[in-house]
Amino acid sequence: MFALMESARLEALHLAQDPLTGLQAIIAIHNTRRGPALGGCRYLAYADTDSAVRDAIRLATGTSYKAALAGLAQGGGKAVIIRPAHVDNRGALFEAFGRMIDTLGGRYITAMDSGTSSADMDCIAQHTRHVTSTTAAGDPSPHTALGVYAGIRATAEARFGSTDLQGLRVAIQGLGNVGFALAEQLAASGVELVVADLDGGRVQLAVEELGAVAVNSAELLDVPCDILAPCGLGGVLNGESVGRLQCAAIAGAANNQLASVEIADELDARGILYAPDYVINAGGLIHVALTHRGESLQAVTAHLAQIGLRLSDIYAHAQADKRSPARIADALAEHLLYGG
Ligand code: NAD
Repeated sequence: MFALMESARLEALHLAQDPLTGLQAIIAIHNTRRGPALGGCRYLAYADTDSAVRDAIRLATGTSYKAALAGLAQGGGKAVIIRPAHVDNRGALFEAFGRMIDTLGGRYITAMDSGTSSADMDCIAQHTRHVTSTTAAGDPSPHTALGVYAGIRATAEARFGSTDLQGLRVAIQGLGNVGFALAEQLAASGVELVVADLDGGRVQLAVEELGAVAVNSAELLDVPCDILAPCGLGGVLNGESVGRLQCAAIAGAANNQLASVEIADELDARGILYAPDYVINAGGLIHVALTHRGESLQAVTAHLAQIGLRLSDIYAHAQADKRSPARIADALAEHLLYGG
């Protein structure tokens, strides 16, 4: 375990259980050099404890990188609650988790993530103030979409010479909370939309309300387009898919889009400009961090604009150094987290 922590440069790993409610939780704190660790809480079933711990460590590391490049005075952390096969009282389980967080005295602040809701955050909030994305704090997804939109404009400028999106063809994979809000903004900017989602209802809505063209999910990556926006699951850019892509740039919300950083080198070699996912999708983290500090929505909106500026800076570095934007982003984040 310590070898795993050392290789991830993890500061701390906390485990807690509560047999009364069925809680089995892991909190990974990656780095607090820039401030208290902030990061979502997952509530998922895992094959075993080891894979849950590894997931928490991997996600905490990614959140540190995201917070650093978003210019937040916040470190990275992540919580994983192993979802029991059966739970009598979900509210009591999240309340027990709130008590666990409170023992850390503010070194970790939790938020909504896969499998959790603002109602779960409300249960946690009964026992600790180190929680955000509660019902009162609001949904971060629209802010993630705003940040991705700003990032797409910066990507268009770097790839096509203008932030004007009018007439560009953008293919969106996934029309969930973030993808649909992004589609609305792109449609309002005169973008030609091609969309796919496993949920036919979401697709139908985009066709009827936004004039989007629908394609089968399996075919979306083959669509010739200016920008591909992955907004569904992670891992879409892999050894199998990269050769099929017919886009000039990739800029979307999904976490962990690259199966490995070597895939980013392949994209670079093919002349496809890639917006590092944790830079372009930082809007939600910016929202939860600033609302937790009591800052206004105007402050959140102003901070979101930094996503476009950060990406432009990364693209300029990448071009100068002849390296992929993903490698430049990693190097910048590591400099901010570890110095040197
Ligand atoms: P969501 O669950 O609301 O939506 C995801 C959508 O993608 C769903 O409609 C689903 O049917 C669709 N989908 C899944 N696999 C697909 C496939 N193979 N082809 C087509 N459609 C597919 O999730 P969300 O909150 O919109 O988040 C989208 C992505 O952005 C996720 O990867 C998430 O981790 C990431 N992200 C979200 C936020 C946020 O604030 N919500 C912040 C940062 C990153």
